Amino acid sequence: MKAGTVALIGRPNVGKSTLINNIIGQKVAITSPKAQTTRFPINALYEEEQGQIIFIDTPGIFNKAEDALSKKINKKTLAMLNAEVDIFLYIVDHTRKRDFEEAKILGIMRKIDKPKILVVNKIDIKDPTFLPQYEFLKDEFKDFFYVSALTNKHIKPLIDKIFEYLPEKDKIINSENHVYPALNIDSKTFISEIIREKIFLKTRKEVPYTTTVIVDEITERNKQLTYIKARVLTVDDKYKKILIGENGRRIKEIGSMARRELELATSKKIYLDLHVETDKHWVQTLS
Ligand code: GDP
Ligand code: MG
Repeated sequence: MKAGTVALIGRPNVGKSTLINNIIGQKVAITSPKAQTTRFPINALYEEEQGQIIFIDTPGIFNKAEDALSKKINKKTLAMLNAEVDIFLYIVDHTRKRDFEEAKILGIMRKIDKPKILVVNKIDIKDPTFLPQYEFLKDEFKDFFYVSALTNKHIKPLIDKIFEYLPEKDKIINSENHVYPALNIDSKTFISEIIREKIFLKTRKEVPYTTTVIVDEITERNKQLTYIKARVLTVDDKYKKILIGENGRRIKEIGSMARRELELATSKKIYLDLHVETDKHWVQTLS
């Protein structure tokens, strides 16, 4: 049996979260039409006869790090990657031009001295394509795959290749003790990520990325019902108004979408108590 950790590296929006979600078959990371919705490294467990793979999504490590928030994440995530990862998947999106950001990531990839697999994603899209801008990478990466994370194309051969590289090892996580999705982050983060995704789906460009969700309470009222209290924090009253919507309609929609997904993930009935607050300083107070 084999086991180990695999990190997904790539600029925002290449499809890292989508790939993990589809491999795991359950919602564990956030995908969104907007870039950079996942702020925490998300570990998800994949298990089959061949063994166990722990996937690490690496959102936001390679962005420009101009604000206090991304600087903190970069340092923490990078340290974790160096210490814990067995294999790196370098994900590129052939439908977008190579740019400065891509060059930076490639620079970092070149410094990593572990097995690396090149994954060209979104092959379901034929046009636009900038494939010639990426094909030279095949010389550097012994292994490469053309996949579609969205339509699940060529994912199985990629998984088999990952297992080839992973060390012989016993199970890292005893899956019998885990309720799927198995996450190494605490469930408060998981819940807040789900709520955040719904916020971005419902508000698109109207609300900035600094919006965050704090989960204050998770109480199991009984075997069937779990009570969750959460606050949406935004930096400006004008965003608060947008989030709440006319007669509270928007926050209700966000709340019920999140609740349905949490119920699906936990197989429990959820009561989600969701409020919106303005807090100009939350970015600074985040540890
Ligand atoms: P991340 O920032 O790298 O985690 O990217 P996401 O997984 O959030 O994906 C960004 C966007 O690309 C989302 O709108 C996805 O639906 C879309 N996407 C991801 N993989 C594919 C794919 O294989 N094909 C297509 N057509 N879209 C994809
Ligand atoms: Mg993501």
